[in-house]
Amino acid sequence: MNVHDSEKMAGVLSGEGFSPTDDPAEADLIIYNTCSIREKAEQKFFSELGRVKSLKRRKPHVKIAVAGCIAQQKGKAVFRRAPHVDLVLGPQNIHLLAGLIQHDRRAVANEDNPFIAESELPVLRKPGGRAWVSIMYGCNNYCSYCIVPFTRGRERSRPSGSVVREVRGLAEDGFREVTLLGQNVNSYRSDVDFPGLLRAINATDGIERVRFVTSHPRDLSDNLISAMSELEKVCEHLHLPLQSASDEVLKRMNRGYSFDEYRKKVDALRKRVNSLAITTDIITGFPGETERDHGDTVEALKDIGYDGIFAFKYSPRPGTKAAVMDDPVDDAVKTSRIEEILALQDAVTLRINSALENTVQEILVEDPARPTSSCPQAERGPTRLLIFLRSTFTQERL
Ligand code: SAH
Ligand code: SF4
Repeated sequence: MNVHDSEKMAGVLSGEGFSPTDDPAEADLIIYNTCSIREKAEQKFFSELGRVKSLKRRKPHVKIAVAGCIAQQKGKAVFRRAPHVDLVLGPQNIHLLAGLIQHDRRAVANEDNPFIAESELPVLRKPGGRAWVSIMYGCNNYCSYCIVPFTRGRERSRPSGSVVREVRGLAEDGFREVTLLGQNVNSYRSDVDFPGLLRAINATDGIERVRFVTSHPRDLSDNLISAMSELEKVCEHLHLPLQSASDEVLKRMNRGYSFDEYRKKVDALRKRVNSLAITTDIITGFPGETERDHGDTVEALKDIGYDGIFAFKYSPRPGTKAAVMDDPVDDAVKTSRIEEILALQDAVTLRINSALENTVQEILVEDPARPTSSCPQAERGPTRLLIFLRSTFTQERL
């Protein structure tokens, strides 16, 4: 979502005559598009921000902007911590960017945006096969650990006509895959619900694959399962964040489902959607998480056999309910739990991917291969490519 917000800022700025550069020394405007989902991202950002101080001293005309969720949360306080910053801009105010960069003085825009100005923002994407498309903004769920409802505001769904128009345009520009974005796509509601939107997009000529993130397990409906099983362009992949398999922990997280309910939805999905790849998010060391709770999550990972996971150490976010809960878990314990989970998952992912060896899969070529440390022979051709292609998430982690 954050990457796509950057594409929107780039779109707004190209309308103002700016063009992107990879070299900060060449730039007239530098925007940090920040994330505050965990504390580490925040710390990294403030140390990065320190680095452009000397550049600003040498070239005072260069504008430094802080955008994204840290900007939303901290507002003017960013100026106190970093006096070289000119502009602070929350994620709900990207439509104001063009006007704000004209100001000579410092500006802050982090008000809640009550209307859907986000809908029609221009987007500057790198040409390629895949594109992100926003279908809704904000979140109403208030999971007790999460900062998103505070930074991205209340849920707003984008009109389906506007989404479909954008997807049609992408197909004309040569994109073949779209990933629909929302914090909880299952609560999308405009003139149609989310399965209805999938049906409309499935009918768009030129688009061959449709993905979406993220589905909240509580709101995953039978209708969505039917749409996934019927619509040929919708990928057989679902990212369904579990967070924890302990009912006690899930309750304190305010997730709104029990493990048993989650498990039943996975069964229903697997029954109706052939060769479905499922990925998930896990948080280790949530306040009060016992060895037994952790053990439940380990067992669930073995039992469900995800294609890939994202695992995070719980990070307290000021202002959320979990930040003041009793019984915080030591960092060393969080680390050992996450390591156990990742090692287990690596083995599961390898087993699932290995089963695809010597099979024929449909692939989408995104970019010429470049050699990396994990794939030094890329230039000579990605000979083992096929076994990595089933799940984009797994592929990215590998
Ligand atoms: N809306 C999506 C998730 C958005 S945040 C959903 O509900 O699934 C992406 C992931 O970050 C979450 O699924 C969660 O696993 C993780 N996360 C969010 N807040 C966190 C925190 N305070 N500490 C650790 N991980 C967190
Ligand atoms: Fe955060 Fe929960 Fe909303 Fe996801 S559903 S963004 S985890 S509050």
